[in-house]
Amino acid sequence: MAFIGHRCTCGHNDLNHTENDKGKNVCTANAGARCGRKCTALKEPELLPTFDIKGHPVERVIVPGDGLRTESGTAVTQTCTCDGCQALYDQITSA
Ligand SMILES: [Zn+2]
Ligand SMILES: [Zn+2]
Ligand SMILES: [Zn+2]
Repeated sequence: MAFIGHRCTCGHNDLNHTENDKGKNVCTANAGARCGRKCTALKEPELLPTFDIKGHPVERVIVPGDGLRTESGTAVTQTCTCDGCQALYDQITSA
């Protein structure tokens, strides 16, 4: 499963970030805490690969706004739905 998102200058992606109570985008990659690097989310979306439990890249691309799911089918995170991500998704899936 791959998803479309934005990489941050700290080296982590959308799914490792959350908005704090001041509306600021903060990294939670370090077990829920900031990784300590400077966070500036990049505007250009990219296809970020994910891997199955055996380490194989998974081809299916998640629809923007859908989430990664646990094995029981619960959506745990939601991917970005901005115009850039939507456009990239259209581009990939129409190729
Ligand atoms: Zn980070
Ligand atoms: Zn960051
Ligand atoms: Zn986006």
